[in-house]
Amino acid sequence: MSGKSLLLKVILLGDGGVGKSSLMNRYVTDRFDSQSFHTIGVEFLNRDLEIDGKLVTLQIWDTAGQERFKSLRTPFYRGADCCLLTFAVDDLQSFQNLGCWKKEFMYYSDVRDPERFPFVVLGNKVDKEDREVGEDEASAWCEENGCCPYFETSAKDDTNVGAAFEAAVREVLAGDDLIDHTLLSSTIDLHGNRKVARSSCC
Ligand code: GDP
Repeated sequence: MSGKSLLLKVILLGDGGVGKSSLMNRYVTDRFDSQSFHTIGVEFLNRDLEIDGKLVTLQIWDTAGQERFKSLRTPFYRGADCCLLTFAVDDLQSFQNLGCWKKEFMYYSDVRDPERFPFVVLGNKVDKEDREVGEDEASAWCEENGCCPYFETSAKDDTNVGAAFEAAVREVLAGDDLIDHTLLSSTIDLHGNRKVARSSCC
């Protein structure tokens, strides 16, 4: 991709086992592994894309939902531009925990405008027969909690995965004034800090 690209950090949050790593890997590498990835701590992958004429590098951060990684929360949440709250449609508990994940994100992150921060919700594993959460129920929760849009995804079948990540980018770009445009060509280190690559002019 040529030209300057806007670096956007999106984070996947949700209970362990709902498919966060699988969604990230499906979107970035177009692969699915039926074995759990057992995310240790935090990891991220980048994908470049062009949306509405804008070049974007999407940095997708994935972490284990387990309590044992508490110390990694702050760097993980810091500098996020969008949060993808994820549950599995065959796991009612993971749906019921969405509100906790949202609260936790708001508590630990450094978002400038909590009212306008974009959340996208993913109901993953829609390929499975044994659903415990209906689409209407999930959509209603999203409306009530200001977390829209909602996508029903399957990392396994590649259903709506690209659409969900692209919607996240659109949500961020729609709140354009929240983006710090000096962040063109910046990087984000493992502590969640952005480093802006400044060109040496003059
Ligand atoms: P994470 O802990 O949220 O990152 O979840 P993983 O990505 O490790 O996935 C947990 C398990 O669910 C793994 O066995 C995956 O293969 C499986 N899985 C993930 N996404 C899907 C999906 O869309 N459909 C089905 N049937 N299984 C999935």
